[in-house]
Amino acid sequence: MNLGWLRALLWWLAWLALAALPLAIALAPPRPMAAGAIEELGRMLGLVGLGVLVAQAAISGRQRWFAPGLGQDDLLQFHRVAGIAAVVLLLCHPLLMFAGDRAFLAWLDPRAGLLRALTLAGLALALLALVASSLWRLALRLSYEHWRLLHGLLAVAVVAGGLGHALMAGHYTGAGWKRASLAVLALASIALVLETRLLRPWRLRRRPWRVVAVRPERAGCTSLELAPEGHDGLRFAPGQHAWLTLGERPLRLQQHPFSIASPAGQRNIAFTIKAQGDFTDAIADVEPGTPAWLEGPYGVFTWRPGSCPAGAVFIAGGVGITPIMSMLRSARARGGHEPLWLVYGNPAWDEVLFREELDGLAAALPLTLVHVLEEGHAGWQGETGHIDAALLRRHLPADLSRMAGFICGPPALADAAGPVLLGLGLPARNLYAERFDLI
Ligand SMILES: Cc1cc2nc3c(=O)[nH]c(=O)nc-3n(C[C@H](O)[C@H](O)[C@H](O)COP(=O)(O)OP(=O)(O)OC[C@H]3O[C@@H](n4cnc5c(N)ncnc54)[C@H](O)[C@@H]3O)c2cc1C
Repeated sequence: MNLGWLRALLWWLAWLALAALPLAIALAPPRPMAAGAIEELGRMLGLVGLGVLVAQAAISGRQRWFAPGLGQDDLLQFHRVAGIAAVVLLLCHPLLMFAGDRAFLAWLDPRAGLLRALTLAGLALALLALVASSLWRLALRLSYEHWRLLHGLLAVAVVAGGLGHALMAGHYTGAGWKRASLAVLALASIALVLETRLLRPWRLRRRPWRVVAVRPERAGCTSLELAPEGHDGLRFAPGQHAWLTLGERPLRLQQHPFSIASPAGQRNIAFTIKAQGDFTDAIADVEPGTPAWLEGPYGVFTWRPGSCPAGAVFIAGGVGITPIMSMLRSARARGGHEPLWLVYGNPAWDEVLFREELDGLAAALPLTLVHVLEEGHAGWQGETGHIDAALLRRHLPADLSRMAGFICGPPALADAAGPVLLGLGLPARNLYAERFDLI
């Protein structure tokens, strides 16, 4: 049996169990007399909403015991959808309660219970702020770093407020053991958020790195080479990424994910970073000798030379070549024998990263290299335009049924190329896609 599917199945079961736990605790005996159907449904939705929020803490924190089933990309897409679902469930909860029994409207009245009304108002505001800041971050002019901090704080506030509300309501949560179990669950999810945001960066101080080389590349990119200081470095599979922090201390707001571009097995780690915002714009000015901190490696977008003897197809756009460089560089270091295809799209010839090195890789490996330029120049005889179905069919073998496929670049590239590879017979379980702009 394919272990990837088994891991994904276990992942789903673990997520469902976590999300259903508050409801299961509430429904365990002793149970109060059932109220009207609408009111009961309202309670169930509130408890499931709380459960989904608790499970969100487990999937968003790059927890090693939870992350391997899905890739970081899929995990964050799922986190976004599950977050929206939790908010819808939590907003339906009061509406159904009021529809089931108008007496619940008194919960909003501060004269009938100040703490209760304040908790509910705070909870509703925190929920709305959580959704609005996530869906409209750019329109609200929130920098990614401030959004990330706010998101963590709001998530903790909503889980703590939701627990407080469930305990105050006390309908299904009257028994002491139920109250204790719900409190442990909510505290555990808050502890997970704190572990990710505070403890883990703090622990990184035991494994410092230092920038040893800074090289300008084409297309506004810069390569950084980092050396481990007093430890044995990072063991990673080609294609994985790590979270980079620069500066004297590892605990900083600025922590960003970058694919490792150097081959596996090397002591030093290299990244190639495109200027796209406040952190990446400053990379070109980083001085050799700057302290650095790496959290990782993460990701299931990985390929090991020899792992798929029938061959592999790589499709990259722009700086999306970085994880594939690690794969190809690793293949060259180990003397790869399987046939490989790389279709690499860029706006223009002057912006093709690692152009000369790719020629060397094509000479050293059984690698078919296809450059695609949005705009060709005078004398350009290669492909022009976008990477589409017709182009891929022209250059790739007709049958990919025993191969693996890797796509990394802008979302439109994965959307266009993925279905074509599947259409050429590539099994869905062998298709990997990585997006760099997740949020
Ligand atoms: C798995 C993965 C691997 C990546 N590998 C590379 C790489 O090899 N080379 C490279 O140039 N870029 C890579 N990126 C993209 C890189 O992380 C962002 O460009 C960078 O974080 C932008 O930060 P900024 O402060 O300069 O820009 P900002 O102005 O803060 O953000 C610009 C955009 O970048 C994205 N972004 C910002 N911070 C993060 C973050 N912490 N996590 C995820 N997305 C973020 C958001 O979509 C944001 O809208 C990768 C991203 C991911 C998720």
